[in-house]
Amino acid sequence: MVTKIEKIEGKKADEKVIRAAGEILKNGGLVAFPTETVYGLGANALDEKAARKTYQAKGRPSDNPLIVHIARMEDLPAIVKKIPKKAAAAAEKFWPGPLTMIFEKSGIVPYGTTGGLDTVAVRMPDSETARRLILAGGGYISAPSANLSGRPSPTSAEHVREDLDGKIDMILDGGPVEIGVESTILDMTVDPPMILRPGAVTKDMLEPLIGPVSVDRTLIQPDSAAAPKAPGMKYRHYAPRANLQIIDGERKQTIAVINRLAEEKIKAGFLVGIIATEESVGRYECGNIKCVGSREDERTIAAGLYRILREFDEDGVDYIYSESFSEDGIGMAVMNRLLKAAGHQVIKAES
Ligand code: AMP
Ligand code: MG
Repeated sequence: MVTKIEKIEGKKADEKVIRAAGEILKNGGLVAFPTETVYGLGANALDEKAARKTYQAKGRPSDNPLIVHIARMEDLPAIVKKIPKKAAAAAEKFWPGPLTMIFEKSGIVPYGTTGGLDTVAVRMPDSETARRLILAGGGYISAPSANLSGRPSPTSAEHVREDLDGKIDMILDGGPVEIGVESTILDMTVDPPMILRPGAVTKDMLEPLIGPVSVDRTLIQPDSAAAPKAPGMKYRHYAPRANLQIIDGERKQTIAVINRLAEEKIKAGFLVGIIATEESVGRYECGNIKCVGSREDERTIAAGLYRILREFDEDGVDYIYSESFSEDGIGMAVMNRLLKAAGHQVIKAES
């Protein structure tokens, strides 16, 4: 299959492209598109066969459900059994935006889309291109991240091309995304509602609005025997090809430990990558040093993380050493993804 790549400028001129992409979706095809979180791989969410194609293209296990994307609040009732009051309040404030909510599904949502579950995950993205495409494609578009299963999620159209060229019908190129980590997943079928995946919408942002929110305890804890509640979170996602380790401790000690580890490995003939920040990048002495963002603003780190993991894959490094980041705000999402990418390998830098 030849994958068409179309640039989106956000203008009237795109109308023809969006319409053509919508037709592909209506006919059961696959179109990757930008959202504000990461690029999604779109398919008709109400078509079981289209879901199967999605799993095939990504190499994704079919028990890992897809998120259904909508563009208008009035489209929600048809795909869910009921809309809890708290969900309506959260939607009012955070939709469109990086919040996915889990509902009991209605009969029109096929089990192929929900991985066999009686619940459905729904999000209304903020990206205008995404919303235009959803409407052009019939209103209900399932869209997992547009990467091969196991690779870091794509934050640019180029990343999608690397993974899915020749496997899908079209890629809409809207440039780099804004947020860079996947949406917060909030389960509204339990009371209190529970965060199953941390993202840009945090517990602290939700609680003033809908009261207490719990957090799936498997998200940050490495050694918990319990299975995560979102089926997809159990897979070793976001994995770079290199062995990634996180070094946690005071800034000075962390830098010293990373410098020592990097030197050892380089002497032994390995290629070493280092994930640094604007605040520390000048203090590393050897290796392939990349600056992920600034500690002054955790959002810059979220925006840079997946791109850097992919760059290290391309550079062919054998080991990656990363600093550890604050879990405040979107930092919890950053650390959740980084810990998964590292297979939870954390080295304590002792003073
Ligand atoms: P991705 O599409 O790559 O962002 O992954 C979607 C995530 O949403 C995966 O971790 C899924 O397990 C999770 N998810 C989707 N639907 C449900 C659901 N009905 N219940 C719980 N988690 C879900
Ligand atoms: Mg994904």
